[in-house]
Amino acid sequence: MKTIPHWINGSSTEGSGTRTQPVFNPATGEQQAHVALGSATDVDIAVEAASAAFESWSESSLSQRIQVMFAFRQLLLEHEEELGRLISAEHGKTVEDARGEVMRGREVVEFTCGLGDVLKGSYSDQVSRGVDVHNFRQPLGVVAGITPFNFPAMVPLWMHPVAIATGNTFVLKPSERDPSAANFVADLYRRAGLPDGVFNIVHGGKDAVDAILDHPGIEAVSFVGSTPIAKYVHRTATEAGKRVQALGGAKNHAVVLPDADLDFAANHITAGAYGSAGERCMAVSVAVAVGEAADALVEALERQAREVTVGPGDAPGTDLGPLVTKAAQERVENAVGTAAAQGAAVVVDGRGLKVDDPTYADGFFTGPSLLDHVTAEMDAYQQELFGPVLAVVRVDTFDEAIELINANPYGNGTALFTASGEAARRFQRRVKVGMIGVNVPVPVPMSYYSFGGWKDSLIGDSPVHGPEGVRFYTRPKVVTTRWPRTAVQQAAAGFSFPTSV
Ligand code: NAD
Repeated sequence: MKTIPHWINGSSTEGSGTRTQPVFNPATGEQQAHVALGSATDVDIAVEAASAAFESWSESSLSQRIQVMFAFRQLLLEHEEELGRLISAEHGKTVEDARGEVMRGREVVEFTCGLGDVLKGSYSDQVSRGVDVHNFRQPLGVVAGITPFNFPAMVPLWMHPVAIATGNTFVLKPSERDPSAANFVADLYRRAGLPDGVFNIVHGGKDAVDAILDHPGIEAVSFVGSTPIAKYVHRTATEAGKRVQALGGAKNHAVVLPDADLDFAANHITAGAYGSAGERCMAVSVAVAVGEAADALVEALERQAREVTVGPGDAPGTDLGPLVTKAAQERVENAVGTAAAQGAAVVVDGRGLKVDDPTYADGFFTGPSLLDHVTAEMDAYQQELFGPVLAVVRVDTFDEAIELINANPYGNGTALFTASGEAARRFQRRVKVGMIGVNVPVPVPMSYYSFGGWKDSLIGDSPVHGPEGVRFYTRPKVVTTRWPRTAVQQAAAGFSFPTSV
């Protein structure tokens, strides 16, 4: 059985660690590979390679770096299908969905192809007699990314193209559950002409993460994953003096007002709830039915949920693939049981679903579940289930819906379904959430905006990619310049604080 290696200084290496972890095919339940689990020594070696590469990469011209990004973008486009299949085989999501994440990740590379404009400094002429001021931004050095299983290509692509195009070098610690996409991407970078050592991968779990968080050679850490680990990463790495962006978990509400087109809303909420088996940080996990919208909405959601096709991710026609691990499948199915015990109505029960083909008898499948009459006190509302479970909470008024969202500890994404522009405007101004959709269930921003939630969905203050990503991976310098020529300008320096006259 193959071992998925690290990627350090432009080539594969099994590293110094002797530990490995199994990688499964979630559709069959079988182990298909091992992944090397990196040690502190592997992180040291990767940081050393990245530090050495930084010396020349940070001196390369912006045009050279952008040329690499153009070539990399083309390779991502040409290999979208292959990369999508690789992701599907380890994650479980459908190939079509996996291709979608590659495309959304590629958009970040496209953003970096226009970096010249975003990186422009500003210039102020004659701020004082004969004195001008300009500013510019420089890369930080070696930066690291620690990423979750649910988007093994896209989430790292939120980080490394921006870091690398701005002149940094990068060490990625991908999820140990679906590690192969990272290595595939590393090879595309190599083929795009990226010098050795600029992009490195150390696979592993907590040991590798801890070595990154404490490493004196790493200037900044980008993290995406669950909230408890985001808090840990933020605390530990900021204490070690690093710049940190840490994106956490989510509980995303879709509010449906009685004036909405209920079939349209149900259709989009169903896709947003069960797509990628609910393993998206922007998945719709709570539908908030306002007033008289409730009965008709639940009826339409039930109809739609019963039409979802569950199967292996590479079979044509599959809407919903398996969950990533057996543990995830058990956790989600237990959560449905707990919801029922706590008084929720299980309108559609996805537990115990078996795919017809015996090849997939041991796959980590669970069907879509729809829970009605869920209340804010129930576990199904309070916990991030990260599975194909949609909870319907019924409220009487629009204000109550907004209060519910604002009282929730998470604030990643939210959506409103309505025909009223006034309601939409009120919603977007009042909800304490970072990314908002109006009749759009999964409002993931384009790459030239930045991605990030509020509250427990983003620890620290920096969203990823777009202008905020550029700001995160660079630091500013302001230069005050004088080229003395006239007698006045050559006058002796004064001892009092300089004033702008
Ligand atoms: P996770 O927190 O378990 O793992 C994320 C990363 O942290 C992985 O690389 C993992 O190896 C590492 N890690 C795990 N436990 C650790 C520990 N104890 N110490 C140090 N490092 C540790 O998350 P996951 O299960 O891979 O991904 C799902 C979670 O990610 C969900 O909560 C989801 O909402 C969140 N997520 C958030 C966003 C966002 O943009 N806010 C995007 C994608 C996923």
